[in-house]
Amino acid sequence: MNYISTRGGIAPVSFQDAVMMGLADDGGLLLPAEIPPVRDCLPAWASLSYSDLALEIMRQFVGDDIPEADLRRIVRRSYAGFDHPEVTPVVPAGDLHILELFHGPTLAFKDIALQFLGNLFEYILEKRHAHLNILGATSGDTGSAAIYGVRGKRNIEIFIMHPRNRVSPIQEKQMTTVLDDNVHNIAIAGTFDDGQRIMKEIFGDLGLKRRYCLGAVNSVNWARVLAQIVYYFRAAFEVCRRTGSDAVQCSVPTGNFGDIFAGYIALRMGAPIRRLLLATNENDILARFFKTGVYAVGEVYPTLSPSMDIQVASNFERYLFYRLGGAPLRVKSLMAEFAASGRIDIGGADPAFAAGRGTTAETLATIRKYYERYGYLLDPHTAVGVAVAEKFADPAVPTVCLATAHPAKFPQAISDAIGQDIARHPRLEGITDLPCRCTTLPADRQAIGDYLAHVLDRTAKKPA
Ligand SMILES: *Cc1c(COP(=O)(O)O)cnc(C)c1O
Repeated sequence: MNYISTRGGIAPVSFQDAVMMGLADDGGLLLPAEIPPVRDCLPAWASLSYSDLALEIMRQFVGDDIPEADLRRIVRRSYAGFDHPEVTPVVPAGDLHILELFHGPTLAFKDIALQFLGNLFEYILEKRHAHLNILGATSGDTGSAAIYGVRGKRNIEIFIMHPRNRVSPIQEKQMTTVLDDNVHNIAIAGTFDDGQRIMKEIFGDLGLKRRYCLGAVNSVNWARVLAQIVYYFRAAFEVCRRTGSDAVQCSVPTGNFGDIFAGYIALRMGAPIRRLLLATNENDILARFFKTGVYAVGEVYPTLSPSMDIQVASNFERYLFYRLGGAPLRVKSLMAEFAASGRIDIGGADPAFAAGRGTTAETLATIRKYYERYGYLLDPHTAVGVAVAEKFADPAVPTVCLATAHPAKFPQAISDAIGQDIARHPRLEGITDLPCRCTTLPADRQAIGDYLAHVLDRTAKKPA
């Protein structure tokens, strides 16, 4: 399977090259040249274990670019560390089916993709005798999942910038208590936007990018989408089996459109999914788009679900490509229009999506209701998805709600909702007392660049 750019400006590349490229060299996003139809495979796939199903689905997109035995090893290793034997179990709560995606090392759904991506990077770098130095900026969740994905791996160094004193204490500790030599936490004296700006400046300097073999792990990497397709199939099979239905609908708490885009690919491949319910908090650019056809940036409001406090969704361009019937020149001109004016109008609707918004008050009320009625504790991101799912309840189609984080990551929101501080997880107990390592630097491109150079010289990981 080859990969193409949404903007049509690169020659097709292999799966491995697509993974290493991250963002396409023409500024677009990479997509498989075709979406494999798998309807004929569904009966055989329905009873596979998580890892075996992941292998079958990924093989469709990897082709012969990685030998099957190697891919199997990468997949097995990626999910062996999850603390549930089914990896992503489905738990009933009232009329809903909660798909728990938080059984990985950092208790957020991002582990599912980043554990896989870390092992994939290690494999490709080993084959190519190459090094990769990952630079990322995080507002909280992505940083720890990325760090856990590559900690201790050969040929990889990871540098993660977080805004000093502006991530939650748990999120900070989840990053800075990882003491592996290849992990470098940087607290910048500034905001998350400063971190993103520094990233863009450093990546925009192609000389520096090449000299230091810099790579990114943000959600534009195709391998992240790929790993997330798997649990949509898994959950749809499981809930169809339990309920006797022939399809489900999936409610997805959405920020950067990465998770729900994987669901869209699953649906297009032929998974038994009737439609996707896109759930946002007050930062509702995507919910507005799916209602009106207008994609227009607004202001970013801080909410109880910080990983969804996003106004410009990096994966949206991939969807746009399909929505426009695979026309790269139109994608390119619309993205240019959006960059210039902050607004584009596509018009029309897509029956594959319904969209809604869960406010802060609804988030708190939903957490309280599911705890009191069903004894199930939702994290605030999941609660947004559940609040929206309730608005689109359909007696004929069971609803799967994706649970994207464990509630213990957001204890303040839980106590605000139910008046008790009861969200706990053994992986987080005592984390605030563990030793940590972190370097504080000014929010300045030069300072970050100098620090990278200093560490890479010291570790002799700098390529010739
Ligand atoms: C990242 C994240 C989301 C949003 O996922 P996208 O792929 O960015 O849409 C939702 N919930 C949690 C807990 C997250 O960490």
